[in-house]
Amino acid sequence: MIKTTARPPRPPQALAPSAWSREQPDVGAAVEPWRPPAYFNAAQWARAAGDVWSGTWLNAEAIAARARQRLLALLRFARGHVPLHQRRLRDLPAASALRLADLPVLRKADLMADLPASLAVSDLDRATIDAFLADHALIGTPLAGRFAVWTSSGSTGVPGIFVHDGDALAVYDALELLRFRGLSVAPRPAGPFMASERYAMVAALEGHFAGIATVERLRRAFPLLASYVRAFSVLQPMPDLVEQLNRYRPTLLAAYPTVAEHLAEEQAAGRLRLSLEELWCGGESLCAATREALAAAFHCRVREAYGASEFLSIAWLCRHDRLHVNADWVLLEGVDARGQPVPPGVPSHTTLLTNLANRVQPLIRYDIGDSITVLPAPCACGSALPAIEVQGRCDDVLSLSGRAGRVKLTPLALATVLEDDAHLNDFQLVQTGERRLTLRVGAAERARASAACAVLRAYLQRLDLAGVRIDVDAAPPQREAASGKLRRVVRAVAA
Ligand SMILES: [Zn+2]
Repeated sequence: MIKTTARPPRPPQALAPSAWSREQPDVGAAVEPWRPPAYFNAAQWARAAGDVWSGTWLNAEAIAARARQRLLALLRFARGHVPLHQRRLRDLPAASALRLADLPVLRKADLMADLPASLAVSDLDRATIDAFLADHALIGTPLAGRFAVWTSSGSTGVPGIFVHDGDALAVYDALELLRFRGLSVAPRPAGPFMASERYAMVAALEGHFAGIATVERLRRAFPLLASYVRAFSVLQPMPDLVEQLNRYRPTLLAAYPTVAEHLAEEQAAGRLRLSLEELWCGGESLCAATREALAAAFHCRVREAYGASEFLSIAWLCRHDRLHVNADWVLLEGVDARGQPVPPGVPSHTTLLTNLANRVQPLIRYDIGDSITVLPAPCACGSALPAIEVQGRCDDVLSLSGRAGRVKLTPLALATVLEDDAHLNDFQLVQTGERRLTLRVGAAERARASAACAVLRAYLQRLDLAGVRIDVDAAPPQREAASGKLRRVVRAVAA
């Protein structure tokens, strides 16, 4: 189960063993084929909203009991309908004795080795999914009329592909609207996404990433919303981005912290002229100093968001600036390097995620690679949902000297160029001089190194950085000595 606070709840009431065994299909026994839910309908949204609302202020015992019921139902489903889990969950103990910690850890490589076997439907093959992902005109549209498909960054060597059904999307939307937007913002007469608000997301748009795919899905589902929600590419030169944002005049802005810092410099210099109500940051670590600097630059509240391609809305920031895990719908286990649970207050080596909302591709104890710390004290906001801190990626912003002055490059933009245009995932880009970069590439992708340099050069040229030297290092990407973490974009010269 999820790590809880200093006052751990009593263990939830387990379902009676008879109920578990009665409903638990035998492995390999014939079960009714699963009929996926609709991609989007009003009844789904109403059901999810009611559930999320009623779950928000439950006490810790009730949250744990709700989560455990969902977990048992998910395990039954996965064993009955998903080939990957039929193999992995063959020998489950009885429900009364079942502990999440006893189940096998699922890694990205397990999932990607046989993607169709991880799905509860048998009519989706890998070629169909790959063709869908290759077509960027389809971003935000459903695959096979029923599913959202998102790719994740390949920061651990291989990009992940995650399929979500309509019921799961409705839960993510309800968590985002009712908890992240509804509860933790200053009260205003109108609710979330009202006409006075204009939402801008600055992100990687050139792929089926969770962020842009969600924006496009909502724009299609609610055409009236479309002019109030817009996404802007992080890959374009900064002057172009600044001009577009000035023209759009957003009141809410979502961006990676390193991108937001870059925009804050433009705002401080007077070139960017935004009047924001809130700035939302996610995807990378947001340290307190950065948060304060961003709040000062934009004169607004800066809020951290924690989501992933595996579960869109993992945690929400309350009025006391604590990230509360949506633990009735997603279980997080912080574990050490040996896979053992870490106590509250101690940063985990990695985190195992169990998605209780999604049936089409059950993720059970899936290693998401993030380090989290469960906060020991209960939160003053009154929520019994456990609070965490996330130690996300902390890559550097590079600053190169161009013909017309310094040009800053965010890790998100550089990683997107190398992943999407050069198909490189296992890499490390190091700035070693004012006009000098070194690229390290893992052994399996070594053959793509020189093509990647060409892609990078073309990108730098578009940013007025022609002539920057790029060397390929014979060494593979190097992990941090202290943390063992791999930083993919590193500035190794003095600022
Ligand atoms: Zn709180």
